[in-house]
Amino acid sequence: MNWLTNFVRPKLRALVSRKSAPENLWLKCPKCEQMLFMRDWEANQEVCTHCGHHMRIRPLKRLPHLFDEGRYELHPLPRVPSDPLKFRDTKRYDARLKEAQAKNEGTGEALVVASGLMAGRTMVVALMDFDFMGGSMGTAVGEGLVMAADLAVARKAPLIVFSSSGGARMQEGILSLMQLTRTTIAVRRVKEAGLPYIVVLTDPTTGGVSASFAMLGDVHVAEPDAIIGFAGPRVIQDTIRQELPPGFQRSEYLLEHGMVDAVVHRHKLRETLIRLVSLFMDPLISESRSVAVAAG
Ligand SMILES: [Zn+2]
Repeated sequence: MNWLTNFVRPKLRALVSRKSAPENLWLKCPKCEQMLFMRDWEANQEVCTHCGHHMRIRPLKRLPHLFDEGRYELHPLPRVPSDPLKFRDTKRYDARLKEAQAKNEGTGEALVVASGLMAGRTMVVALMDFDFMGGSMGTAVGEGLVMAADLAVARKAPLIVFSSSGGARMQEGILSLMQLTRTTIAVRRVKEAGLPYIVVLTDPTTGGVSASFAMLGDVHVAEPDAIIGFAGPRVIQDTIRQELPPGFQRSEYLLEHGMVDAVVHRHKLRETLIRLVSLFMDPLISESRSVAVAAG
């Protein structure tokens, strides 16, 4: 009939039908190797319905499960110079960055900052995105965390960070390393304002992130079976020349050894965070509890 029906409609149809192709309906659990029906797996917050394995879930998929009625506000990250060192390895860094941004629509960097109500209380949440250049921390992530901390202080809200990172962003060299101190100072400001700072360690939390803000929480909650550590096990094994114990650098091992305060299933995260924040911020409830304990 016209250009719209002859050209645009078939193109749209092709796009839609490609999405519903059978190979996109199923996926295999990397742990138990069972086939999972995509829709069930998504409804289960990307936890295997057979063995309970927690797969890496992206920030925008996680957010609706955290806030009241799944409603929240996204805060765009401050703009930073995109390639300050004009870095080039096999590819130019700005080209690599653009490619990652094109692939990850909705999140322009390895961090997403959101705020909203959780059990009626305002919370600021910053989530790292491992799918965006390995969750690497460059200037944009550092700026984003500083912004999230400032936002928490301004709104007198707790700051909750979901960490997931391979470490510093090598393409930004020393500027990337500077974010270790900047983010440390940022979370310090939240604590100085008397507000809780809670870290949820998710798979994997390694490198510079584990050497800065991710290990400075008032409470450290971890998702099951997540890898958490600074250097990888092979590097450690080669350095100390000793066999590492089974489960080394996994959430459960770190819980046993006092590095993590609790290992919490993804389905229980929201209620756990609400309870933790309430313990910090509602003195009346904790007082009445201690009175009850004393009386009992
Ligand atoms: Zn499984």
